[in-house]
Amino acid sequence: MRQKLVAGNWKMHGNLVENQALLASLRTQLVGLDGVSCAVFVPAPYLAQTQQMLAGSAIAWGGQNVSEYDKGAYTGETSAAMLLDFACRYVLLGHSERRAIFGETDVVIAVKFVAAQKAGLTPILCVGETLEEREAGRAEAVIARQLDAVLEVAGVDALAKAIVAYEPVWAIGTGKTASPAQAQAVHAFIREKIAQLDVVLAHNLTILYGGSVKANNAVELFGQADIDGGLIGGASLVADDFVAICQAAQSCTVAA
Ligand code: PEP
Repeated sequence: MRQKLVAGNWKMHGNLVENQALLASLRTQLVGLDGVSCAVFVPAPYLAQTQQMLAGSAIAWGGQNVSEYDKGAYTGETSAAMLLDFACRYVLLGHSERRAIFGETDVVIAVKFVAAQKAGLTPILCVGETLEEREAGRAEAVIARQLDAVLEVAGVDALAKAIVAYEPVWAIGTGKTASPAQAQAVHAFIREKIAQLDVVLAHNLTILYGGSVKANNAVELFGQADIDGGLIGGASLVADDFVAICQAAQSCTVAA
């Protein structure tokens, strides 16, 4: 059975004082969750603090973005090697905010994917459709295009060391969650698409759901056959809420 992963995306929130309390609380509470891995994605300036506070704990951490370049005259960028200097295990790639606000294209995201893996990071590739695309019946086509861009550049084998997160854009930060059946249908589509290239890899691929996951809807979502955990935005900023979501993931592994 696939291990569940619950990942908290802090986005551009927090400060040294607030983080101290949040990280300390997570460190104390997120213990003994068999079958569930937990991770936090903090803003880059707080990676040192995160490393210091979470080293030796059960919680991993990662960057919210990475440069496609190794080093050089790229003002404002953070390389994969720099993330590794702070012991990041993961990096988020292609979050809808990066795509929509910062203009990251499928191709740029694919190049970042390769750069991250080459350095030894595990990419969490975010895919998902807008409301307009869903209403036009194009959700699967959009997600297929986003996956294909990475498959073309990195190859299917690269997905053995990556995670996919399905995040319908209309559900991110809106309080509108995809129903468990809607989310499951897309997750099954993603797994089936990868299975056409490699059945075993597809079976083992961790696919997270993200979009207004809260403690009160997590069990139903994580209980779906192809949902292996969540990428959590807003609720990851409140320790007790994030812990409750991680516990919900564990209850699904126990029930499975
Ligand atoms: C996200 O930031 O990836 C996210 C899913 O946010 P929220 O949980 O707040 O919808």
